[in-house]
Amino acid sequence: MLNYQNLSQADPEIMAVVRREMARQSEELEMIASENYVSPAVLEAMATVLTNKYSEGYPGHRYYGGNQIIDEAESLAATRAKKLFGAEHVNVQPLSGSPANAAVYFAFLKPGDKVLGLKLDHGGHLSHGHPVNFSGLLYNFVQYEVNPATGRIDMDRVRQIARREKPKMIVAGFSAYAREIEWEKFREIAAEVGAFTFADIAHTAGLIAAGEMSNPVPIFDVVSTTTHKTLRGPRGAIIMCREEFAKRIDRAVFPGMQGGPHDHINAAKAVAFGEALRPEFKDYARQVIKNARVLAEELISRDYRVISGGTDNHLLVVDMSNRNLSGQEAEIALDKAGISVSRSTIPNDPKPPLNPSGVRLGTPAITTRGIKEPQIKFIADCLDAAVQNHQNESRLSEIREKIKELCALFPIPGWPAQK
Ligand SMILES: *Cc1c(COP(=O)(O)O)cnc(C)c1O
Repeated sequence: MLNYQNLSQADPEIMAVVRREMARQSEELEMIASENYVSPAVLEAMATVLTNKYSEGYPGHRYYGGNQIIDEAESLAATRAKKLFGAEHVNVQPLSGSPANAAVYFAFLKPGDKVLGLKLDHGGHLSHGHPVNFSGLLYNFVQYEVNPATGRIDMDRVRQIARREKPKMIVAGFSAYAREIEWEKFREIAAEVGAFTFADIAHTAGLIAAGEMSNPVPIFDVVSTTTHKTLRGPRGAIIMCREEFAKRIDRAVFPGMQGGPHDHINAAKAVAFGEALRPEFKDYARQVIKNARVLAEELISRDYRVISGGTDNHLLVVDMSNRNLSGQEAEIALDKAGISVSRSTIPNDPKPPLNPSGVRLGTPAITTRGIKEPQIKFIADCLDAAVQNHQNESRLSEIREKIKELCALFPIPGWPAQK
């Protein structure tokens, strides 16, 4: 791993921040569903001189000279992503998930066009038409919801809304939804009303790449994903599509949305895709899901209300309303207990998004540390104890010590011991 020798000398202030953050990541249990720990190889790829290059355009067609070698890195990333997801075409340049989605809309829609997306408090993402986001401002989003009784997307309702609204595009994907998505049904509905299909697999891409969840890439017109969540790569995104849409996607990313690609990050994406192609990654993805299932069962047995009654993926949304604290209070108490989680809305949340009723828990990062079922039971005990004692500072710091001991037993792969 990098030793940061130059950074320590040149900028001790920033170095101190980095060291403190390393210690925090190392000593706390990271249960934010969208986070993970990249490998030292991915980290090293990001810290390369590839950051010095300008390479607007695409391999073989650049607007700057000297890109023969950069072309190889970008092509490697694209080839590996194609193999990983069975995609016909991949654009690896999007800087992050939201800009990738902006490029997809830009490629297929005109401002004001109608789009169907999952409502934010039902698990959707800001970039799926929330009124404060560019997507909600530029396009005419109509939202579908989960069935309040089952916590699952109600495909009959989606069909009804699609028939009534005749959208130009249907978006399927989520940030806080724990169940498989019925890609094939979405495709059928879209075909009935003549809509494009767009899957945003930002959260589950790693599980899909590993073959542990169903893959929309062969079914949908276009698929975007971040590379830094379950896929365990650098912060960024990619867009995959059928060959027939390749040109319009590429044009929408550059020159439509972005200038020069981040070549160091694209090289790190290639490294992460290479890692995800190896058999160990399948074991990892399988364990992520196992851990999430066991966590859901353990919490349900302690009288927690898990939305949809469990999970098929790496995350669960837990309603705290029956525990006399809000999602934000739970987030703060768990933070004090050394467990990072994110507050989350629950479907039809009576509380506002800044202080919603639930928390979202995820297992990708702790699974990267090697945590398995036996530790999950212990973690469920700690979560429960922190929630029950959320106003008891000394109890919370006792739990924090236990979590720190657990973390010491499961160091982040490739990291030097933290003092
Ligand atoms: C995380 C996420 C994004 C946005 O990714 P950023 O890299 O944070 O912009 C987009 N869509 C979904 C469904 C996500 O979960």
